[in-house]
Amino acid sequence: MATLSTINHDRKIFDKKYIYPVVSRRAGGLSLGINLNTNNACNWQCIYCEIPNLTRGKPEAIDIPLLKKELYFWLEEITQNNFLSKHTNPGTAFKDIAFSGNGEPTAAKEFSDIVSIVVEAVKDYKLESQLTMRIITNGSNMCDKSVQSGWDFIQSMKKEVWFKIDSVIHDEVKLINQINGSLGMTAKNLEASLSVSPTIIQTCLIKVGGKLPSKKSINAYIDFLKNYEDQLSGIHLYSLARPSEQNITLEIERLTQIELNQIADKIRVLNLPVHAFI
Ligand code: SF4
Repeated sequence: MATLSTINHDRKIFDKKYIYPVVSRRAGGLSLGINLNTNNACNWQCIYCEIPNLTRGKPEAIDIPLLKKELYFWLEEITQNNFLSKHTNPGTAFKDIAFSGNGEPTAAKEFSDIVSIVVEAVKDYKLESQLTMRIITNGSNMCDKSVQSGWDFIQSMKKEVWFKIDSVIHDEVKLINQINGSLGMTAKNLEASLSVSPTIIQTCLIKVGGKLPSKKSINAYIDFLKNYEDQLSGIHLYSLARPSEQNITLEIERLTQIELNQIADKIRVLNLPVHAFI
């Protein structure tokens, strides 16, 4: 079996602090992940979060020279040292570089500097036309000027923001994401994302106490996203891949493929590509 596959996501296989390769079904191949939250700190605390020892907070200061060294190491391994044929299944291609860590990546104060370092490295390896740059984010910092300008800076290659919205109902957001958000704030953050980047909504659907997301919840989600139908690039629906690492009293469960597909079909009333990943 290949060391890396869509079912083997162990980031610890390769001993690096910030940068790790994974084979991602949603990215469609090899993804080089950048983890800026090495202290496992996030400003949200989603009940399904798979990060062990998650704490509330911000990332610690980033060791930029080390991050850069790791980035060049991996780009060299992938492009010059047959990493793909040694560690992945035949046909796997290098697809993206994704800010996707153990917490919210845009909370790092060095975020925009790191974006420009990555773009420079991608250019050095002449990978601009092959790779997409992605942020996998809860969207809460998308109005931040430095995040905006950092992401706007990417002009020479494809980019995408994968923007988390699990629900648009206040009480559900409070329960699932454990934040006191407002729909107005979500809208502002989403609009900020759309102003600098193609944006895909990523939605984790779970059963809480044995109950599927309600009709009311799905209808409110559709109504909200209807406002952005012409600007969004798509919707990714998924459910739990691994058990939650959070200390919760609620019973949560993954949806079956059939349940996820049924919700995806409802959401397809929107004029957007909707993909359901289990
Ligand atoms: S936003 Fe992401 S990293 Fe943060 S708690 Fe939720 S699932 Fe975990």
